[in-house]
Amino acid sequence: MAGLSAAIYLGRAQRLTLIIDSGKSMATWEPEVQNYLGFPKGISGKSLLARGREQARRSGAHFTADEIVEAGKRKTVFDLRGRKRRYRASSLMLATGIFHLPPDINGVKACLGHSMFFCKDCDGARVRGKRIAIYGANDETADYALGMLMYSSRVCVVTDGRAPRWSKARARWIREYRLPVYPKQIKRAVCRGCDIQSLRFSDGTELSLEALFTTRGDVYHNKLAKMLGAKVAGGEVVVDADMRTGVEGLYAAGCVTPANCQMIIAAGQGATAAQTINRDLFRKSLALHALRRDCDAARDRD
Ligand SMILES: Cc1cc2nc3c(=O)[nH]c(=O)nc-3n(C[C@H](O)[C@H](O)[C@H](O)COP(=O)(O)OP(=O)(O)OC[C@H]3O[C@@H](n4cnc5c(N)ncnc54)[C@H](O)[C@@H]3O)c2cc1C
Repeated sequence: MAGLSAAIYLGRAQRLTLIIDSGKSMATWEPEVQNYLGFPKGISGKSLLARGREQARRSGAHFTADEIVEAGKRKTVFDLRGRKRRYRASSLMLATGIFHLPPDINGVKACLGHSMFFCKDCDGARVRGKRIAIYGANDETADYALGMLMYSSRVCVVTDGRAPRWSKARARWIREYRLPVYPKQIKRAVCRGCDIQSLRFSDGTELSLEALFTTRGDVYHNKLAKMLGAKVAGGEVVVDADMRTGVEGLYAAGCVTPANCQMIIAAGQGATAAQTINRDLFRKSLALHALRRDCDAARDRD
């Protein structure tokens, strides 16, 4: 998402832009994006990406399907090794995203994005008034469960056999708001199609529910950033307000940075990074007396 947005800006800025993509955007998991500006009736994540690709292509950006497995920098040039071929670039933006870890529950996969969710900002509104379970046993789980009370009064926590590790204050709030906590081990999810119906515990009892949220955590795709010497903290690639990483010519945007992981934020960060890249290249060209003059030449010819 961040990469496409950056490519639209860079292509329009007449920069030679290549998107190298292994095609695993998390956006493809969302059947109906309801919080992206300009789509009052919602749009699927796949359609949003397809539109973004089309727009980037029209802006002059190029695409290749590949996965970069190694990255280095020689003097001012980035050298990338993909599974298919090698690439060189004077500026590089990483928009490699993250992977939300699904809960380790048998049978839950079919429900991902439909009745099993990762993000209350994305999906809280669509489960208003429903029976909701939050999966996890840490502070984030407790905060999630308490936050979900904005959407439904029927919220509980399932720890899947783990002892709760949340703070004393959170334990007090969980008691104060009478949130049920089920510490039993989960055997499997019972689903009808993409709809979760219940969780079956290993003692044979069942918890009936309509939506499950998980707080199991994320895997950050930060390997390339580390190879290139960018600072990484808590998994996230550290960037300044202009999306510079601190390594000259290297920028990052989207969920792999400390952004709140939302499509519109990733797109906004991609645009910010592209504008910074364009400005940095412009300044470099001025310093080297190397500004392009082809447009002038074309005008003179006419
Ligand atoms: C189930 C689900 C539902 C969601 N619903 C919403 C929602 O309703 N609204 C919302 O705002 N957000 C939602 N999100 C979050 C949203 O998908 C992300 O915020 C958004 O996709 C982040 O964009 P990004 O550019 O950072 O990463 P991504 O869109 O994930 O793109 C990263 C890209 O980098 C590629 N890549 C990674 N490593 C390499 C490599 N080494 N070489 C080449 N390519 C590589 C990947 O293949 C991928 O295409 C949802 C997420 C999930 C999982």
